[in-house]
Amino acid sequence: MRVTFTPIHRRDKGISGAIAVLQDVTEQEKLEQSRREFVANVSHELRTPLTTIKSYTEALDDGAMDDRELAQRFVSVIRNETERMIRLVTDLLHLSRLDSNQAPLRRQSTSVPEMLEEVADRFSFQMRKKSIRSTVRVEDGIKHVLLDRDQIDQVLDNLVSNAIKYTLDGGRIEIVASRPDPSSIAIRVKDTGIGISRKDLSRIFDRFYRVDKARSRNMGGTGLGLSIAREIVKAHGGTIALDSEPNEGTTVTVTLPALQEGGAAS
Ligand code: ADP
Repeated sequence: MRVTFTPIHRRDKGISGAIAVLQDVTEQEKLEQSRREFVANVSHELRTPLTTIKSYTEALDDGAMDDRELAQRFVSVIRNETERMIRLVTDLLHLSRLDSNQAPLRRQSTSVPEMLEEVADRFSFQMRKKSIRSTVRVEDGIKHVLLDRDQIDQVLDNLVSNAIKYTLDGGRIEIVASRPDPSSIAIRVKDTGIGISRKDLSRIFDRFYRVDKARSRNMGGTGLGLSIAREIVKAHGGTIALDSEPNEGTTVTVTLPALQEGGAAS
């Protein structure tokens, strides 16, 4: 709480009173605090790969270059770290465009069954590598919905890539579209992976929050996938929710308004 006093002056009589303004600054402080945390996180996330790149280039300079095999290994580490920084900066730019409403939605009539089949196809190689079986199921009557295809593809890519990252070899992933009510559609990405404990669930959509930082980094994660997904879904007027049971699996449900061409929801 901030308190400011302004004296009231009367002609000839000096100060005759005061106006006290009580201002609730808790919201402002919270915002300021989360901005500071965000900047600290970004700096840290960029510093880690940069430090690695620096030490590997120094090692190359100090003689590792003469050992062809070693040099190749070091160059590959440098390439991986650079790619991670590019992913991070791309995600940050995307988030900042979403935050400032500079990513206007380009809704187009989209076939939901086709969209889900295509996301499963995009990840079929990665799933096969981990012997993960996947199924796509679309309830009867769900066909076309107006949505920004590129942005929703990004949401689905983030969810399916998480499902693969956090599911052990031999697991299962289901992508299901259903109609919870006549005016919305729900898309669920369900895995049989490692799950998330109850204490982490409430923070899972926070920027840079990861249950296991080292694991996420090793998998190439930026810690921004779910935050980006949430912003895109919000921009569509929808909601995103995550349910999880440790060692059993995770289900992420995206609910979107089932807008149809011509304005009506079918
Ligand atoms: P990351 O790039 O680290 O995957 P996300 O924002 O996509 O970042 O996810 C945040 C964290 O949520 C992850 O680091 C992971 O700990 C947890 N998480 C997300 N999806 C799943 C999932 N399907 N199963 C288990 N944990 C998950």
